[in-house]
Amino acid sequence: MKKIFRTKIFILVMTVCLLVPSINVRAQERVFTRDDNLVIVIDPGHGGTDTGTQGGRIQERFMNLITAQALANRLNMYEGVTVYMTRSDNDTTLSLTDRARYAESVEADFFFSIHYNACVLHDRFGIETYTSRIAPFNAYGYQFGDLLMKKYRDQYGIFPRGVKTRKGLRTDGDYYTVISANIYREIPAVIIEHCFADGIVDADHTMSNEQFRDYGETDADAIAEFFGLRSTILGIDYSGASENLCYADPDIFNDATFEDKTGPTSVSVSVTSVDQFFNTVNIHVEGCDPDGMMLYYALSTDGGWTWEAPVPWPGADALSGTYDPSFDLTLQFESGVRPSIVIKGYNRYDGYLKSNQITFIDKFNSKDIPLYREA
Ligand SMILES: [Zn+2]
Repeated sequence: MKKIFRTKIFILVMTVCLLVPSINVRAQERVFTRDDNLVIVIDPGHGGTDTGTQGGRIQERFMNLITAQALANRLNMYEGVTVYMTRSDNDTTLSLTDRARYAESVEADFFFSIHYNACVLHDRFGIETYTSRIAPFNAYGYQFGDLLMKKYRDQYGIFPRGVKTRKGLRTDGDYYTVISANIYREIPAVIIEHCFADGIVDADHTMSNEQFRDYGETDADAIAEFFGLRSTILGIDYSGASENLCYADPDIFNDATFEDKTGPTSVSVSVTSVDQFFNTVNIHVEGCDPDGMMLYYALSTDGGWTWEAPVPWPGADALSGTYDPSFDLTLQFESGVRPSIVIKGYNRYDGYLKSNQITFIDKFNSKDIPLYREA
């Protein structure tokens, strides 16, 4: 007995030893090296006649400025960094290229564009960052975005949607002008979409100006950690190797940032059991997106006429690109209901696929097993 126990411990220790060193070595690399005079440009998105999204409690241009000002204030408490802002009031209208030109004029080392998100159905949630498609800028943005989103997940419980890219309509470059205009000037640039200002789920995260300020301070700390800065006033020192930096190869386009323009390849649902006394149905859901990942799912019990708000796909981790290939759900129905169950699976780019449909022929009556059809 004792010997078997020891062998198991040994195998466990061996496994841990084999895994840990390689992770640590990779985690300590800082992809962006800087000179001593680090210049950071903070860009509060929109402004003036461009209000940004109006779906939130206040217009996006206001939220962005509150976050950006808190960010600049805190980043200024770190040593060896000069911080500029593209706008410092809400009445200034700036083109996207103007913002990049300004960054060039102050010889920026890195450009951070501050935004809040919104979507047509007001049902999406989470934080995402956009980086360039071009190496080495792709890796700089990827490593920063990964670091930032881990902070948001751990500190605020905001769901990471990943570090993403978007291809230009007519070029192989970047879709977002604020990124492409900076990259053209060889300034690394990222867009931070903090969370959804119009969303039901993220509503808790966009209640007060205090929260917008908190996010600015978190962004400042993430930037400081990314560059290895130190602050005597704050008593923070990121100058040593950081365990939190993800691995990124500056020479190649990172697959984790791949823009997935196609929906999931399969989403299916099947019944595993029906309880006629409690009116419950256990269903098994499978989903697959080989060139991306499953990020959310939504449920309909009326054949797709109405949908519940999307929720995270079980095991979905947009930072590692992993998700559970299948999961089980228990659904409960009122007596007299004749459900028709469909699942929608979404990927990181909001592409989706509807599953097959499970149609109940009989109504639930708390006595007999209702008949159903899996199509
Ligand atoms: Zn915006």
